[in-house]
Amino acid sequence: DLSVAARQAGKTPSVSFEFFPPKNESMTEKLWECVRRLEPMSPHFVSVTYGAGGSTRTRTHETVSRIARETSLTPAAHLTCVGAPREEVLQTAEDYYEAGVRHIVALRGDAPQDEDFKQPEGRYTSVVDLVSDLRAHRPDLGKVFEVSVACYPEPHPDSRGWEADLAHLKRKQDAGADRAITQFFFDPDVYFDFVDKARGAGITMPIVPGIMLQSNFKGLKNFAKMCGASLPDWLHKLYEGLDDDATTRDLITANVAAELCHKLADGGVNQFHFYTLNKADLALSTCHLLGLKPAHAEAA
Ligand code: FAD
Repeated sequence: DLSVAARQAGKTPSVSFEFFPPKNESMTEKLWECVRRLEPMSPHFVSVTYGAGGSTRTRTHETVSRIARETSLTPAAHLTCVGAPREEVLQTAEDYYEAGVRHIVALRGDAPQDEDFKQPEGRYTSVVDLVSDLRAHRPDLGKVFEVSVACYPEPHPDSRGWEADLAHLKRKQDAGADRAITQFFFDPDVYFDFVDKARGAGITMPIVPGIMLQSNFKGLKNFAKMCGASLPDWLHKLYEGLDDDATTRDLITANVAAELCHKLADGGVNQFHFYTLNKADLALSTCHLLGLKPAHAEAA
């Protein structure tokens, strides 16, 4: 039992959950059911994504603010910056701060395909600058953020090779990032090899594995194509013939995620970031398979 082993070693796994901001009332209800059901798992933090080019700015703000106001959870707000005016991005960060948010997941994001991006004066071109700005955010007022950044155990489509990727991640660390959260992957060795390379390149911050809980395999294939993650043959086979059977796909997804976490835990990992896609059942069952119990059960 991992939880027993981990607790005996004084290392209870720590989890964080990622949500996306809802678009309408029924999605809002679903998100809040998810938040409430996951709250007793006492996550380290819960993060809310930010649409490309700031397209969800208001919804992300509303969601993190409500989490800060109405729950015991520690919210983290994603913030993308590429092509956006510096002042506007920092104002968004300030608004998060005022709403009680102290942790930002700083991202470059995907470049807008418009004229403005070709004239980036006064606009962010690199997430490294955003990390520096967030770490320097009004220290006179004690307004300093905790900052997480993204990293890629399998090359991102914009990768210029491992050396350049690792140097770039090191620059994020040097600019003040506190942790890196990985893009999703399904082979534990992909993670371990990446961590070895990163440590060799002087990256000392925690590298938290991002665990995908997408049970819609078509959707997963699309995500993978966009971000450069590979989907092993065995995964394709597991979902074969299940296009019309969401329940079985969910069960498989939770099992695949838990098995991956167990293999990572065997290699010494004790922090996991779950891409929940706002589905409580999947995140909860994966946590239970990992041996994590809700706070009230622990207390009992
Ligand atoms: P970076 O890490 O800056 O760059 C991406 C790639 O380009 C890397 O391979 C990097 O090494 C390379 N690169 C960039 N600049 C240089 C350089 N100067 N020299 C050498 N190599 C360079 N997207 C959203 O729109 N909203 C979200 O909320 C969101 N949340 C995410 C959360 C996590 C944990 C992850 C892993 C991804 C998330 N994304 C999100 C996706 C992300 O925005 C895209 O992958 C985007 O294309 C890259 O953003 P980044 O901050 O990872 O970029």
